[in-house]
Amino acid sequence: MGEPADPAPRQRTLLLRARAALPVTAPPLRDAAILLRGHRIEAVGAWRNLARGYTGRRLDLGEVLVLPGLINAHCHLDYTGMAGLFPPPRQFTDWIKQITVTKQTWSDEEFRQSWFSGARMLLRTGTTTVGDIEAVPALLPDVWRATPLRVFSFLEMTGIRSRRNPQSILQEALGRIRTLPEGRCRAWLSPHSPYATKPELLRQSAEASRQRGWAMATHVGESAAEHQMFTRRRGEMFEWLKRNERDMSDCGNVSAVQHLNRQNALGPHLLAVHVNYLARGDCALLAGTGTHVVHCPHSHSYFRHRAFPYRTLSRSGVNVCLGTDSLASTFQPRDQPATLSLFSEMREFAARHPKVGPANILRLATVNGARALGRAGKLGELAAGAEADLIAIPFTGGSRAAARAAVTFDGPVLASMIGGRWAIPPQTP
Ligand SMILES: [Zn+2]
Repeated sequence: MGEPADPAPRQRTLLLRARAALPVTAPPLRDAAILLRGHRIEAVGAWRNLARGYTGRRLDLGEVLVLPGLINAHCHLDYTGMAGLFPPPRQFTDWIKQITVTKQTWSDEEFRQSWFSGARMLLRTGTTTVGDIEAVPALLPDVWRATPLRVFSFLEMTGIRSRRNPQSILQEALGRIRTLPEGRCRAWLSPHSPYATKPELLRQSAEASRQRGWAMATHVGESAAEHQMFTRRRGEMFEWLKRNERDMSDCGNVSAVQHLNRQNALGPHLLAVHVNYLARGDCALLAGTGTHVVHCPHSHSYFRHRAFPYRTLSRSGVNVCLGTDSLASTFQPRDQPATLSLFSEMREFAARHPKVGPANILRLATVNGARALGRAGKLGELAAGAEADLIAIPFTGGSRAAARAAVTFDGPVLASMIGGRWAIPPQTP
């Protein structure tokens, strides 16, 4: 007789114990237990309650705080290797020109290695789900298979320089998505931004995404230059794109947000990335349409943008979440190589918004990101029925100190689980 066969993975249970747990959508717990069944969480509660009468597998994680895996709503993994290449630019368009030239000199292999290196950084620093913009869609689906992360890949579409018509750009992206498997990872659309695409591409991509129930991502209102271009028909970006023969008839007396609204591109499917510059009425449009906003604190600091309008947006009811953006727009300190880390983004956010409490900051990196990606109730929280995506960090305090400990944490996580499987196994004695 051989070993008894493992029960089917969806039946397997595991009861985790931790000094504390931070479910995010429920109060923190001391001496916490999380009961897993297969790839899902079955229950979260006090150890003394969940352990009573439980006869299955148990694992004591010890002096740790368990929290949901972090959700990075905006990243460019394929640019990770560009860390430190570009000093903070005087003008936003200088940065675009530099990265465009660099991209032209990189091989697919360089992009692939860069993507992997970024994925490893995210995993080590507690991200379990990433919304990633793919400039090189040919890397899919191989890169998905090589990481345990949940990756929502947004296929980048532009089309100003190539002069291609929006319909054929969109059809090419949709054709590629049709060839990709749908499982832990999947692909959606990302018309790059109102300035780098024709209005029709925004309109048609939004319509295609809405029809299919997909999320969509686009960069909006990132720089003062873009804001000037749309609202005033002037400034460095306006002049540069005009010289490059972009049809500028969509500019003037309109903000980037209003421009998207004219293309019927706003809505609960849309992740509007950045939104640093708001015109009058923009906030009401974003809130009224249920559009999500992704803020990238380090990238924001790197470009020295105007203060991010967090309070205005959140008070209006806009769902704000966090992203790392790429290392191509992050300071590279001499003593310490820059890394993609949502913990680091939360610390940067806390430094810039001292009135926002740690529990709220943690929501930006968990439940709010899940909502933006259409995964509310499934990701970003420790709750019955959610996916078993969780991380553990060292912790010796009481449950009231848990949110602050999470937001100030710096360092690799002790363990990471995605869909009930250890992506970083815990080191238990
Ligand atoms: Zn971006």
